[in-house]
Amino acid sequence: MFKVTVNKETCEGCGECVDVCPSEVFEMKDDKAEPVNMEECVGCESCVDACPTDSITVEEVEE
Ligand code: SF4
Ligand code: SF4
Repeated sequence: MFKVTVNKETCEGCGECVDVCPSEVFEMKDDKAEPVNMEECVGCESCVDACPTDSITVEEVEE
């Protein structure tokens, strides 16, 4: 499985990650992206590529 982290300091709330994620991992909360559905992440890193502020990290972790 994957651990998805959003840096709330640099996230500018554009919503790109919400739009691009095929597994609906993100929701917007208080104008910041929140990984609410991390267990559905498939590790495609589309969110990492889409984020204009490099605020997202995706790392593979042991089950
Ligand atoms: S790596 Fe892919 S599946 Fe995982 S949160 Fe990012 S866009 Fe969604
Ligand atoms: S794409 Fe990046 S800056 Fe935009 S909402 Fe997601 S984490 Fe925040």
